[in-house]
Amino acid sequence: MALIIFSVNGGAQVKKLPATPAKKTVFIKNPRTEKEWIKAQIDSLTCFKMHGRGYVYNGKDEAAKYIVKQFKEYKLKGLNKDGTYTQGFSFPVNTFPGKQILTVNDTKLKAGEEYLIDPASPSWTGENMEVQKINLGKIKDSTAWKETLAEFDQTHVWYLENSEALCTKLKIRLDKLVRLLPKGCFVIPEQNKLTWSLSRDTMPATVYYVKEDHLPKKLKSVTGEVREVLLDKCSSYNIAGIIPGEVKDTFIAITSHYDHLGMMGDSATFAGASDNASGVAMMLSLANYFSKHPQHYSLLFVAFAGEEAGLLGAEFFTWHPLVPLKSIKFLTSIGVMSDVSNGITVVNSTDYPIELEKMQQVNTKNSYIKEIRSKGQAANSNHYYFSNFGVPSFFVYSNGGKEHYHDVFDAPELINLSNVGAATRLLMDFIKVLN
Ligand SMILES: [Zn+2]
Repeated sequence: MALIIFSVNGGAQVKKLPATPAKKTVFIKNPRTEKEWIKAQIDSLTCFKMHGRGYVYNGKDEAAKYIVKQFKEYKLKGLNKDGTYTQGFSFPVNTFPGKQILTVNDTKLKAGEEYLIDPASPSWTGENMEVQKINLGKIKDSTAWKETLAEFDQTHVWYLENSEALCTKLKIRLDKLVRLLPKGCFVIPEQNKLTWSLSRDTMPATVYYVKEDHLPKKLKSVTGEVREVLLDKCSSYNIAGIIPGEVKDTFIAITSHYDHLGMMGDSATFAGASDNASGVAMMLSLANYFSKHPQHYSLLFVAFAGEEAGLLGAEFFTWHPLVPLKSIKFLTSIGVMSDVSNGITVVNSTDYPIELEKMQQVNTKNSYIKEIRSKGQAANSNHYYFSNFGVPSFFVYSNGGKEHYHDVFDAPELINLSNVGAATRLLMDFIKVLN
């Protein structure tokens, strides 16, 4: 199967890429370089049985087992009384197991590549349903929108054109606008790339987002099947281990989230090679290295769960810390670490100029990466809760490698790991100078 990928400058290149990761991953045997080592970890974390490290087919639990195995191999010390590494917590999450179908006129579309189901959608089935088109751009104000909402019935599938125009007019995001829709089925065309997410609850309407170029000019009928299951209490596990230093009760923390979006149905896998298999791979690489080179302070490694569902693992950890939060001298949370050819960004660094300076000095001395971009506070990953509790924290991610953010093409076959070895050595040296 060939996929046309348009590059930023408009040129087209053909890449042979399976929409879902291969069932049999070809693992790198005996990785020799830092980059090969990281690629081997990414391949393991995105292999078939991980099912996108999400909420169907036990994907996230397989990933948790894998990380525990790595921690054991590097002889990290578990923080539970019995020496184990896991910290359990639970939350609700909406899932789409089994078969999902969308046929427009007579053409069956490919889940993930050509359409997405809004993550808050409930189950729905319909066969050869007649389609009614509505131009949302013509709706003048909220009163007119209320009237339109009352018109939607369940005997048709509603094709909603120009939703962005209405969102702009009502000053509301599309994911909030669709929550106002009544029970029934709605199709919304998408001009840009399809980007999925998770929901912790359901809304009344079932909404399909369809790539505009896969919709027929005249959309007459829709046949669809959405199989949704809301898990009320889905158990997840943070995984924490330490490498004791000379000072036992003070920690430098290195964290990363290992969960991702999982699967939408049985064919669309969100492997999350960049997000965040790459970040976990770098964290594991540091754990492996420092297990053989203990430092002055103890090192705390945490692989968080539930990040994609709203930073839930980090939130739980900060309320139920396995080491006193005050004992964490500094925390570095590792996000996407794939294409480092244009350097990295460090969130929160404007708050910690001394630590930023230390990282920059290490980089200048060794010419590791092109640029360290400094950024202020942002609530965009796990560091946020630690920051709120007064733990000095950085959130680091590569400046490249986010073009397949939350889509089915964030797969190991496509990942670009330019200069990732140098970024690993930069973080290694940074941890050392913090000691
Ligand atoms: Zn993500």
